[in-house]
Amino acid sequence: MTVDEGVGRQGRESGPGSTVELIVLGAGDAFGSGGRNQPAFLVNLPSWAFLLDCGATTLIALKRLDMDPAPIGAIFVSHLHGDHMSGIPFLFLQYQFLTRRHEPLVIAGPPGIEERVEGLWGIMYKETRDMMQRRFPVQYLEFEPKRWTGIGPVEVLPLPVSHQHGEVAFGYKVKAGGKVLGYTGDTEWTDTLIELADGCDLFICESYLYERKVQFHTTYKEIQAHRSALNCKRLLLTHLHDDMLARLQDVPDEVAYDGMRLPL
Ligand SMILES: [Zn+2]
Ligand SMILES: [Zn+2]
Repeated sequence: MTVDEGVGRQGRESGPGSTVELIVLGAGDAFGSGGRNQPAFLVNLPSWAFLLDCGATTLIALKRLDMDPAPIGAIFVSHLHGDHMSGIPFLFLQYQFLTRRHEPLVIAGPPGIEERVEGLWGIMYKETRDMMQRRFPVQYLEFEPKRWTGIGPVEVLPLPVSHQHGEVAFGYKVKAGGKVLGYTGDTEWTDTLIELADGCDLFICESYLYERKVQFHTTYKEIQAHRSALNCKRLLLTHLHDDMLARLQDVPDEVAYDGMRLPL
């Protein structure tokens, strides 16, 4: 699907002076390091909302913050690892049984997003998927790399990052309500992060480990080494492993935590 087809364009454009708020629903990793939730960020616009990633703990995090899941119009999934998308079936349950919604839920991500999410939904709640009519519309979208795509009132640029063998992982730049957000998803250091951060009001960057190198993830030392090239107004570190959590006293940059709210 392309920009012109305008998936989920039911949201209203945000006018001047409108507020955009980012709420950290999960600043942790796949291992629940530090008791933190798995990755998820809620971005609230005046009449619409979207998620960046949706780890297993996302619905719990929304309810802990007393947030209504109804306005979520889209989920932008960075890649198909479970800590970034396995919360989607729980949102489906919520929309099937508790929260009425009529606007489509757009689920957009790398190639294979529909098959993976529908497969997971069927594994977790087979009888609901197979026996019941879905009470809410879902639209899947495979992003085209490096192409701005309009979804609801926002525009999204997916840039391939370096995180997996054989599957695509995206970092996203999102224009929303007059602000620009960047999000790396999971990746090892690549100069694509410089492009992602460029001009962002807020750049959410994975900083999995402090300095110990593992394949496909970024260390804080690498971010520090490239810090002057990251042309963003505000940097927020996330996806923290125990190794990074143990060194926070050595980290002058801003670090995300579950429940953190950032008006933009
Ligand atoms: Zn992850
Ligand atoms: Zn991953």
